[in-house]
Amino acid sequence: MSEHDPNCIFCKIVEGRIPSRKVHEDEEILAFHDIHPWAPVHFLMIPKAHIPSLAHVKPGDAGLLGRMLTLAPQLALKEGCRPYPEGGYRVVCNTGADGGQEVHHLHIHVFGGPRPWLKG
Ligand code: 5GP
Ligand code: ZN
Repeated sequence: MSEHDPNCIFCKIVEGRIPSRKVHEDEEILAFHDIHPWAPVHFLMIPKAHIPSLAHVKPGDAGLLGRMLTLAPQLALKEGCRPYPEGGYRVVCNTGADGGQEVHHLHIHVFGGPRPWLKG
């Protein structure tokens, strides 16, 4: 079975069929700028393999998820977020309809930049 879903926008980005502004790429993770940023820094981190949402992860995905979260602070600084604690960023994983998930390929949003972009 293919790791990719032919109808999935983010799988198409992984395959290079839709262009993206890449922040990071390795064997299992891709990070790229959100096409509609709502913060001065806003990029997405995805597994290259098609996992529909956080609700679908399995115990075997723990390493991958750990590596994504471990990479997020490094990429946030690389993209211009100021360091903790004066600076920082918000890391969000929308899950399902009630969670505001619109693209059904697991992704982590990283939002940052000087306030007041972030309310609440
Ligand atoms: P969600 O609401 O599912 O958590 O967020 C999906 C995000 O993907 C949105 O912020 C949206 O702007 C972004 N997005 C949707 N389609 C594309 C695309 O083709 N390219 C990029 N770079 N981002 C996209
Ligand atoms: Zn996908």
